Amino acid sequence: MKKEVFGNGITNIHVNGKDISVADTPNGFQMERHMKREFPVVVAGKGNYLHLSDGRKILDATSGAAVSCLGHGDQRVIDAITRQLTSGTPYLCSSYWSSDVAQELCKELIAGTDKKMSRVYLSGSGSEAMEAALKLSRQYFFEKDKASPRVNFIAREGSYHGNTIGALGVSGHLARRAPYEPFLMNVHQVSACYAYRQRHDGESDESFVARKADELEAKFQELGPETVIAFICEPVVGAALGCVPYVPGYLRAMREVCHRHGALLILDEVMSGMGRCGTLHVWQDEGIAPDLQTIAKGLGGGYQPIAAVLISEKVMKALYNGSGAFVHGQTYQGMPVQAAAALEVQRINRKDNLIENVRVQGALLEKTLKELLGDHPNVGDIRGKGLFWGLEFVRDKATKEPFDPKLQVAQQVHDTAISEPFNMTMYPGTGTMDGVRGDHIILAPTYISTAEDIKHIANTAAAAVNQVFAKLSAAS
Ligand code: PMP
Repeated sequence: MKKEVFGNGITNIHVNGKDISVADTPNGFQMERHMKREFPVVVAGKGNYLHLSDGRKILDATSGAAVSCLGHGDQRVIDAITRQLTSGTPYLCSSYWSSDVAQELCKELIAGTDKKMSRVYLSGSGSEAMEAALKLSRQYFFEKDKASPRVNFIAREGSYHGNTIGALGVSGHLARRAPYEPFLMNVHQVSACYAYRQRHDGESDESFVARKADELEAKFQELGPETVIAFICEPVVGAALGCVPYVPGYLRAMREVCHRHGALLILDEVMSGMGRCGTLHVWQDEGIAPDLQTIAKGLGGGYQPIAAVLISEKVMKALYNGSGAFVHGQTYQGMPVQAAAALEVQRINRKDNLIENVRVQGALLEKTLKELLGDHPNVGDIRGKGLFWGLEFVRDKATKEPFDPKLQVAQQVHDTAISEPFNMTMYPGTGTMDGVRGDHIILAPTYISTAEDIKHIANTAAAAVNQVFAKLSAAS
């Protein structure tokens, strides 16, 4: 491992010939900026806008980190939270109490899965939900056979499942893993489902998906199929690659491989789920169901920190028939105030038909982005689903060669967009796959966005992108 330290104190690490910058993570940048106190200060939020201490009004085109699906300051959610607070029970010890709101929320969530999932485990963040899902999946086999040889997880390159040790262990985000490698689980990886960089010339969806299924099958055979606990993936990759959707048929094919070997399928819909991609759960579009699923961001819409694991009947049965308990638990789980917020967010989604709006406005966002940026020489790919769209930037469109990491192109686009005259958020990221480091940005507008908002977002994004690349080309 070779290290290279840039002037700004950011360290570049070379692992097995791959070039990984610790600053590839938004956190890397944040740390540096926090130290310099460079962050703009938000004093209020209303609808799609954030109001800053310097008087500026910023259009939140990313719902924060794809979280604030209802926008900011929705009075109905504020009222639901206030009611719960004034009832005197924002918190209850979940070891011996439940609450009406937590029970209602769980019922609402189960109903939203068309009864494909049967139980809900509430937690406080996506990482915690992923930890719980990993433990549940192992416990599923342990309950059936205390000497179960199932000890291996298969996850994917270019993935992100959280920052805690277990969740990071199954993540394929090289930059976020790099400093902590010695502590991480021994997880086996297959490639992501990343059509832009992996599809062969003229390759159909069917053959692309068949190739991925063969690869997963080969990984099972290499490890011994009887040793695999689960295959884990994000149906639409968020932070790690920038809104890379599954190729149609992929989730079904992965489901089949898992079935064949009696392994579980864990879908991480922390970022892509809860309506963000145009169906409540992404898997509903593929006509399959996972054994375990994590959800978070759009669940509470940012009004409270809340996440959950949705658990299938199959996994629940093994627990009931075994020890009858999940050996896990956290102080701040299922807090009534969290549940009240999430319940109201989900009811509003349903009552206001917002997921239908995600589909309609998502189609408009796709069309407008492609019209405005499809021919841009440095926009290699425009991909996504629902209101979850990514732009991948390349130095050379023909070869798909990425930019020099030192240029921090995605960060430059973000910095430009958030400044005058654009005043709009664009979520930057840098994924590292097969040693290729790609710059991308994510757009994830709120579910309440109108056609007017979407056109404004696409126009502003295009203007910010044009300005950054005009400057870069003038400087080169
Ligand atoms: N999984 C995915 C797919 C995510 O996008 C994230 C957060 N970006 C996480 C897990 C972790 O969630 P949290 O930050 O709430 O711990």
